[in-house]
Amino acid sequence: MIQVQHLKKSFKHLEVLHDINFDIHKGEVVTIIGSSGSGKSTLLRCINLLERLDDGHILFHGEDILGRGFHVNQYRSRVGMVFQGFYLFNNLTVLENCMIGQMKVLKRSKEEAKQMALKYLEKVGMLSFANQSSVQLSGGQKQRVAIARALCMSPEVLLFDEPTSALDPEMVGDVLAIMKELANEGLTMIVVTHEMEFAKDVSSHVVFMDQGVIVEEGTPTDIFEHPREERTRTFLKRYL
Ligand code: ADP
Ligand code: MG
Repeated sequence: MIQVQHLKKSFKHLEVLHDINFDIHKGEVVTIIGSSGSGKSTLLRCINLLERLDDGHILFHGEDILGRGFHVNQYRSRVGMVFQGFYLFNNLTVLENCMIGQMKVLKRSKEEAKQMALKYLEKVGMLSFANQSSVQLSGGQKQRVAIARALCMSPEVLLFDEPTSALDPEMVGDVLAIMKELANEGLTMIVVTHEMEFAKDVSSHVVFMDQGVIVEEGTPTDIFEHPREERTRTFLKRYL
């Protein structure tokens, strides 16, 4: 579905991604692990075009997303994103948060958008909060709404950037459980996370990044049980 080829990205003189290559196929869950500052967020932001690439290519179903004639706006709606900081609209209700993108970007009718929103709010256990203002919610509740909002856009792939890192510990499990359910239903996901148990349990493929390169990648067993690289072993020791 997505192929990242020889991707490079710098901020001013600092190259933060050096020659990144990886693929994700339909139905896969790829988790990206690595220390803070290794370029994980920048990689996700390049994939959904929140950042400009300096070099290399990203292909979506074989088509270059920076190529002439590529439908960038359509692509952006096919690729959803869930952020560490939720980014809900505070002046809108939970339900409205889930409807607005569908109406503005996908041109769905109000009724259609509402039905879709109710369906996904139910899925994340937030239906009873539909008419509440989103400011009143806890972090975990906000993130569940943000996931429902992303699902309402019918994405082909959903990118998660440390979705549980800003949450109180008791909220983390609920959000991970929802993500696991989505994975089991076959949603294609790229997940940046520090939740190693989740990565072990849910990933089809694990990518370990350090200082702007992919040091090692493989199945959860490869990475967690038999890491080949010293840098991977050193990183994982911190989570044992
Ligand atoms: P991670 O998500 O793995 O913690 P990031 O992708 O956020 O890493 O950051 C990688 C490097 O790029 C860091 O050194 C960070 O300071 C730098 N960086 C990220 N975004 C910007 C930016 N907008 N401007 C300048 N430097 C940035
Ligand atoms: Mg980050």
